[in-house]
Amino acid sequence: MRPTYFSSLFTRTMREDPTDENVESAKLLVRGGYVRKMAPGVFAWLPLGLKVLKNVEKAIREEMAHIGAQEVHLPALLPKSVYAPTGRWDEYGDNIFKLKDRHGADYLLAPTHEEPFTLLAKDLLSSYKDLPVTLYQIQTKYRDEARPRAGLIRGREFIMKDAYSFTLDEEGMKACYSEEREAYEKVFRKLGISYVIVDAFSGPMGGSESEEFLCPLEIGEDTFVQAPSGRAWNVEALKTVEKEEDFSSLPLPKEISTPGDGSIDSLEAFLKKEGISSPILKNIAVVLKAPDGKKSVAVVGLPSDRQLDLKRLEACLSPMEVSIAGEEDLKEHPELVKGFIGVGKVGPQGAGPAKCPYFLDAHVFKGSCWCTGSDKKGFHTLNVVCGRDFGCDKVVEAAQVKEGDLSPDGSGKLSIRRGVEIGQVFQLGLKYSRSMGFKVTGPDGSQKDVWMGSYGIGVSRIIACIAESHRDEKGLVWPISVAPFKVHIVCARKECEEECERLGVETSHFGLETLVDDRNESAGVKFADADLLGCPIIAIAGRGYMEKGEIEIKIRKSGEVRKVQAREAAKEILSLSEKLRSNLLDSAHLE
Ligand code: ATP
Ligand code: MG
Repeated sequence: MRPTYFSSLFTRTMREDPTDENVESAKLLVRGGYVRKMAPGVFAWLPLGLKVLKNVEKAIREEMAHIGAQEVHLPALLPKSVYAPTGRWDEYGDNIFKLKDRHGADYLLAPTHEEPFTLLAKDLLSSYKDLPVTLYQIQTKYRDEARPRAGLIRGREFIMKDAYSFTLDEEGMKACYSEEREAYEKVFRKLGISYVIVDAFSGPMGGSESEEFLCPLEIGEDTFVQAPSGRAWNVEALKTVEKEEDFSSLPLPKEISTPGDGSIDSLEAFLKKEGISSPILKNIAVVLKAPDGKKSVAVVGLPSDRQLDLKRLEACLSPMEVSIAGEEDLKEHPELVKGFIGVGKVGPQGAGPAKCPYFLDAHVFKGSCWCTGSDKKGFHTLNVVCGRDFGCDKVVEAAQVKEGDLSPDGSGKLSIRRGVEIGQVFQLGLKYSRSMGFKVTGPDGSQKDVWMGSYGIGVSRIIACIAESHRDEKGLVWPISVAPFKVHIVCARKECEEECERLGVETSHFGLETLVDDRNESAGVKFADADLLGCPIIAIAGRGYMEKGEIEIKIRKSGEVRKVQAREAAKEILSLSEKLRSNLLDSAHLE
């Protein structure tokens, strides 16, 4: 191994933040010359960035090898026919980059690879003797994200490690799932990235069990809830704690005139003025869009003190997309009187012209008593009891989760946190093998469906998450396992050039990737760049070397400095790097 010389490194550091990046990690990765944005959500990797990327990939490959997963590489460009049998050509909607070849045939740039992996496995595997198999790739994915943001965190072209397991039975699938899950934990520990494992809604992948690995970060778009026990859920996967109350002694419904504009605020003010205390059931008209584009109207009932959470509702109604109904959507539903929608015209008890399904949020439990609309302007009804006066077509999770809600595991109150999804593991079951006709011959000679799992890690996203959580006001502070160079030698005086080169060669001989800053720049610029780049060990040859033959060795993270004789410097750096590596493994933790 040879040292890299900064003077010939293809990079450019910047003093000022780029104007088109909104999160600190993205600003620093651009300023440090790791990546350059080429289009929204599309980045070029410079040598420094690519080194970090290779280090992350290495950690992943080591753990995949450990569990016997085999690496392959599939194309990103695939024909529509691959994704049609599972319905995902349509289901993924606008998120897929679709294109046509010169003959007019439909193609896509793959957003994920369950289908082609299933086809490939079907092609090669025919007997139970061929199973179990786990395949993986580290490959570029394409998603036309609505809001590419936060640099590498939400790209439109990004790198994913995706693995797929094929087994003969459910037990085998579960075993592969636990192996991958464990391997993920090891990878994240090695990389020094914090993570929380949350129960997840499995989305359009459509499996039963699924968990996400979230890196707790304020800039994250995923909200998760955590119980005092440590257990965590994606808000889309959280189930409201069920209850039921006796309603035999509750009074009967009573209609009252309620002046006002039909808003919850005006109704609340009116009830207060009248001295009536009753929770309010608000009914919201929504539009459901099926994968084939067909739209229909439904009504969702939930307590008025909670916002409607469309993502939670969508998770319950998948693969439907849900949006709030506008005036145009309600033209065929004169029975839905804006501001006064009740429970009488919808759902099982309903009698609208084009009957609307009625979904009830799980907080509206059997025996709960409400004030709700009377389906006519200016009127509401009191004492409307769930399970006595109305029912629904489906109980859903439609209400926003609140800090302090009860945890489903009974351990106390939930707290709400934010994070970025860095990985996800799915038990896919038979969904893909059935829709793509993948069977193998079983031990008894009969044809058996193959059980599958799929497992993803956001390789490029992880780099942004590590940068986001390992930085200070001066720049990046890479964990040693991912740093592009383990040692950054700063030549602070022209007279120290020879010594810097010698030290660089020596640390390289010890197997440490070394960067020697030999540029014709001021010491100040070099110090600032060393801090910006964030390599874990910075070795400085300057006045101390000239006066006392000493090298200053600085730990980037703690700022701790030690001075050693030049001859001892390489050995000292080596032992420090080993210490940093073992500290990293010790301190990496499961939150
Ligand atoms: P998100 O909810 O953040 O859009 P996802 O659940 O759609 O992600 P998966 O299909 O589970 O993503 O993909 C596996 C992994 O790929 C994710 O856990 C994430 O780390 C990464 N990933 C997904 N989308 C992107 C993206 N647009 N840019 C970078 N990484 C991504
Ligand atoms: Mg996911």
